[in-house]
Amino acid sequence: MTAKALVVLSGGQDSTTCLYWAIREFGAENVSSVTFDYGQRHRIELDCVRELSALTGIENRVLPIDTFAAIGGDALTDSKIAVCGEVTEKTGLPNTFVAGRNVIFLSYAAAFAYQRGIDNIVTGVAQTDYSGYPDCREETIKALEKTLNLGMDSEFKIHTPLMHLSKRETVELADKLGAMPAMAMTHTCYNGQRPPCGACPSCELRARGFAEAGIEDPLLTAS
Ligand code: ZN
Repeated sequence: MTAKALVVLSGGQDSTTCLYWAIREFGAENVSSVTFDYGQRHRIELDCVRELSALTGIENRVLPIDTFAAIGGDALTDSKIAVCGEVTEKTGLPNTFVAGRNVIFLSYAAAFAYQRGIDNIVTGVAQTDYSGYPDCREETIKALEKTLNLGMDSEFKIHTPLMHLSKRETVELADKLGAMPAMAMTHTCYNGQRPPCGACPSCELRARGFAEAGIEDPLLTAS
């Protein structure tokens, strides 16, 4: 049986790079993607996913999870909190940390994959250079992979091709994979702006990666 892969696609730079990585590794005909509508402030992410799916021809399903917005307390789902990357005193994490997000996303992705006979799940999390989100760490992902396999009596492999790459290396990988036209459609800005604001922590991180790789960000020339 041919190996199939499911990419957790957010419409951002990293998961889009992973989509192209999965196409190379598994073949486009064996790749599909899933996106979570979790009440994120930036609905533009869902538009990006539609554009990326049209460009790549990779099937995408948007699944709803409205619980994070109901819980509140983070800047990405609560419009009363400014998205500035300010560190929350209690947790030492930026206020953009949506507690439990990756754990829940990967659990739902695994349930979706299980029903379709897909064993490979691809996610763009990385523990290098990023905001220090604990659910992006390799240790978390490895433990979750084990839990999901025990819980569903399955043989999922969670692939994290960006885990140990710097932002610069992620940009270089995207370039090598031919993902640059798709980068023009991705969304990164924490302020939900397109063209991007250029000033938020997320825009700054993206700009640094492209600058260090010596590659022009197609998002900036497209918008
Ligand atoms: Zn921004």
